[in-house]
Amino acid sequence: MIKQKTYETIINNLPIGFTTVDENGVTIDFNQAAELITGFSKEEVIGSPHNEVFHPTPGEEPCPLFKHAILRKEPATAKEKTFIKKTGEIITLLVSVAPLYDSDGNFIGGVEIFRDVTEIKRFERERQHILAMFAHDMKNSITTSIGFASRILSGKLENQNECLKIILDELRTVETLITDFLEFSRFEAKEYKPEIQEIDLCNLIKKQIEPISIKARAKNISVLFENDKDQGWTITTDEKMIKRALSNILDNALKYNKPSGKIIIRLKDSGEGVLIEVEDTGIGIPESKQVYIFDAFYRISRDNKGSGLGLSIAKKIIETLGGRIWVKSVFGEGSIFSFFLPRHYSVKSP
Ligand code: ADP
Repeated sequence: MIKQKTYETIINNLPIGFTTVDENGVTIDFNQAAELITGFSKEEVIGSPHNEVFHPTPGEEPCPLFKHAILRKEPATAKEKTFIKKTGEIITLLVSVAPLYDSDGNFIGGVEIFRDVTEIKRFERERQHILAMFAHDMKNSITTSIGFASRILSGKLENQNECLKIILDELRTVETLITDFLEFSRFEAKEYKPEIQEIDLCNLIKKQIEPISIKARAKNISVLFENDKDQGWTITTDEKMIKRALSNILDNALKYNKPSGKIIIRLKDSGEGVLIEVEDTGIGIPESKQVYIFDAFYRISRDNKGSGLGLSIAKKIIETLGGRIWVKSVFGEGSIFSFFLPRHYSVKSP
């Protein structure tokens, strides 16, 4: 006979999220893995209705524990669901649920086990995006170049220079895709080792804003910098990489803005670290697409000429430096990309 205490220890140490609710859907148990996956502590969830804590992403059905185990009193296995973590991050869970009955056959609640498959799903999507990149973007450019080169060789063309210009543009597109792809691969292979030094973040941002402001002026877009305080923004981090991440985010704020729009960069104190926000008044990102926005090679529209790697590289840099990046956006109105950086990089932080 396993003692109650031993049973509790086993549940608590299961390498999988585990939670149980009573017949009204109120949480009565929540193990350590569940805390780690969702970001909520046991104390925060016990006694609260399960569906008040577990927020499905907008447009998703309620949590399977509620829908299947409590309302329909039926089991459900391996349901893939996206949820909003306590931090606001969107995660994908693989969830299995079952109703609970006591020894007399009375319905007493439901049990749920879940696994975080966010990374696995991201890898699967990225594989598809990479295939699409090679199959469409690269192939289109190469086919166009071959077409124009053949026409030049046939000797029947009068406007050869125009054709050569098109070929050059297409080859540059392919070159950018390959360069970005190689850079992304280096990050994936964890070849990037931070070069840490003390930097003044405020100065760095001001320098980054200068070239963007010049390009923005041409589109009648204003660039503003709001700073929480005038000094004391010294942090230890990788300057070159922060510049790279910030420039990707700023380039997007300009690229996806509307004429006469605004870009606001905010630098805020955030206790343990600093918070940088880049707000734009551009086209915004539909809610249903926000979960994919940091995937490698993901583009909402394949009409733009980007590689879809800017945000995924920015995310990799920021996370390697111990930070976190997220987006809030209203489709048609604009977006705010925010990232947090610890004041001091430590090898353990990533
Ligand atoms: P790229 O800009 O090269 O396509 P990114 O990884 O930088 O690649 O961005 C991925 C996609 O996210 C873009 O194709 C675009 O659809 C969307 N996106 C990024 N930033 C913004 C923004 N500030 N406003 C609206 N959409 C954006």
